[in-house]
Amino acid sequence: MSAAPAAPAASSAPVVVQKYGGTSVGDVERLQRVARRIADTHRAGNRVLAVVSAMGDTTDDLVGMAAAVNGRPPQRELDILLTSGERIAMSLLAMAVEALGVPARSFTGSQAGIITDAVHGKARIVDVTPQRVRDALDEGRVVIVAGFQGVSRDTKDITTLGRGGSDTTAVAMAAALDADVCEIHTDVDGVYTADPRLVPDARKLDRLSFEEMLELAAQGAKVLQVRSVEFGRNHGVRIHVRSSFNGSEGTWIVPQEDMVEDAIISGVAHDTSEAKVTVVGVPDRPGVAAGLFSALAGATINVDMIVQNVSSAGRTDISFTVPRGEVDEARELLAPRLGEIGAEDLVVDPAVAKVSLVGAGMKTHPGVAARMFTALSAAGVNIQMISTSTIRVSVVVADADVATAVRAVHDEFALAGDAVVAEQGAG
Ligand code: ASP
Ligand code: MG
Repeated sequence: MSAAPAAPAASSAPVVVQKYGGTSVGDVERLQRVARRIADTHRAGNRVLAVVSAMGDTTDDLVGMAAAVNGRPPQRELDILLTSGERIAMSLLAMAVEALGVPARSFTGSQAGIITDAVHGKARIVDVTPQRVRDALDEGRVVIVAGFQGVSRDTKDITTLGRGGSDTTAVAMAAALDADVCEIHTDVDGVYTADPRLVPDARKLDRLSFEEMLELAAQGAKVLQVRSVEFGRNHGVRIHVRSSFNGSEGTWIVPQEDMVEDAIISGVAHDTSEAKVTVVGVPDRPGVAAGLFSALAGATINVDMIVQNVSSAGRTDISFTVPRGEVDEARELLAPRLGEIGAEDLVVDPAVAKVSLVGAGMKTHPGVAARMFTALSAAGVNIQMISTSTIRVSVVVADADVATAVRAVHDEFALAGDAVVAEQGAG
């Protein structure tokens, strides 16, 4: 039996978008606790839209089952399978909210109007047409939307937004509904200066700019999907990352102009999900790199860091990193072309890790890279590759060195104590 719709919430009532991650709805008790938080927020006079991820390890389990029946599962079928995890969570959550006497309705991504391109496994949201969601909110209902999924207008097929994609669903819904904040309720208290599992005295950050969060997320901080931060930045949706287990303030991700001060360094991210590929003995002439990377781009393989060595005798080595999950594809694509490219060999090293230092104040404070490299060398960590942006320095090191490297850098910049800050407007 379903609860009677409450008096329609005034359409001027604020819209609160809350996203709950898989751990927060990991079992039935946790899911009921989330339902209580949602019902409380509704009763406090808000129009509530909650985006939910699949319960616990559901997505991993589904990936495992797919792999068991087909070593290379067809992408279309895999996407349909994976979206079922969020459907289980959304319908149970709607039932749990109704059980508390608050009317609720769940919608799949496609029903909620999440329109994507047709790239299975990492589709991009191209439009949001949330009419059904708006109607349900106007009827005074809590709306629950399945995260991580949408539908392609071209193929009419169901797509997924990439692992961790529920964050992006939430920010996209917040943008479409003009919510001024998107709350990401998760199993940690916010964004930390480093992964607390590697650095026990890592500190929770109160505020970060979109740019800093973008760099941290892109470099392995798992708390938010990169695309959700891009979406927030592009559409002006502030993001509040907070614990689903308590009511305390978490970390606010805000536009740069709302930062009171720029930390020289905000945090250290690490990433062990990439592999290093080296194309050995490439002829050093125009067009070779273009050919190599065009081939990878054509297969939508995400190339991250690229280093070309000094050439000797007209030949050079080109190394780059790709996600480990895409390294076999990269190898299969490039190996048959070695002759054509004129390269001698292809070497893959999966045992690498990337460590990145991020901070907006870096722009105006030279010498950060030098300090980072010195700290790493003092800790006995060898640097294999380096890349930088205006607010980031990243190095690739051996996988085995990752904890040592993160701690060394975190210590060097005293991130555990009071942050070293630069005055805003210094540059
Ligand atoms: N359930 C999906 C995943 O595990 C999406 C999400 O959690 O955001 O990646
Ligand atoms: Mg998840």
